[in-house]
Amino acid sequence: MKDPGSSPEPAAGVLYLVGTPIGHRGDLSPRAQQVLAGVDRIACEDTRHSGLLLHGFGIDARLLSFHKHNQQRRIPELLEALAAGESLALVSDAGLPGISDPGEELVAAARAAGHGVVCVPGPCAATTALVSSGLPSGRFCFEGFLPLKGKERQQRLQLLANEPRTSLLYEAPHRLLQLLRDLAEHCGSERPVQVAREITKRHEQQVGATIAQALAHFEQHKPQGEFTVVLGGAPAAEPQPWDAPALRQELMALQASGLSASEAARTLAQSSGHPRRQLYGLLHGEMESD
Ligand code: SAM
Repeated sequence: MKDPGSSPEPAAGVLYLVGTPIGHRGDLSPRAQQVLAGVDRIACEDTRHSGLLLHGFGIDARLLSFHKHNQQRRIPELLEALAAGESLALVSDAGLPGISDPGEELVAAARAAGHGVVCVPGPCAATTALVSSGLPSGRFCFEGFLPLKGKERQQRLQLLANEPRTSLLYEAPHRLLQLLRDLAEHCGSERPVQVAREITKRHEQQVGATIAQALAHFEQHKPQGEFTVVLGGAPAAEPQPWDAPALRQELMALQASGLSASEAARTLAQSSGHPRRQLYGLLHGEMESD
């Protein structure tokens, strides 16, 4: 495998993942411009969209489309190009490729084939919203877009309700109110939240500080633009008294909602304050009389 760091950029046979602006054109770094101007080809979600961005920087590049509907077909083609010594860049419509955007499978395939992969970092809506939210950023979870409906959505909401770390969610404007209502139902309307709207753009805004307050705001002001929701973690639970039958019933209800035994034990551990292993044991007939 080549050592990409030792060559001038862009180097032959290397795949560059290049972060692009999420709003502010000034966020395309000089290094990103240099790599994009120098690679043999740029794979992008939408050639028209990326073509316009690059044109604005005087970059005249060979573009090819790479999106969720054609990536299976494109990956072997791009691996062949890397093997032939081409330098390639991957960009998405905005932000970092691979973050709720295509990229992950191509990177895995390129690494498996022994090609160099280098990220030229750039903006990412999730981390940008997190660090400006004022909510704890020491440990956090990226959730991206929740499943639209059904059991999968309920499961994820249930896990979020008990997640002690700050969580980051993406949402489309026409679904923001529903997301906030679902979060209020599962996490309680007083859970801290910051809704980051139009980050890095002219009308950038943060709306919080609780789910109830954000809901009240967006019920008055129709959500427009792009949104990242930063959800505060669940407060640490006060340990409840150990009541084996009641706890087993709660575990079984969590399993009935679709969680595995270990997920159910982890979820209940967070809300009850009891150790996860002890709860897991309860599901298998241990600790009855403790
Ligand atoms: N790859 C991108 C990244 O690194 O952030 C994310 C792509 S995902 C398809 C697009 C979603 O990211 C939007 O629906 C929105 O939830 C969020 N997003 C993107 N740009 C944003 C912005 N300027 N302000 C707030 N959220 C944004």
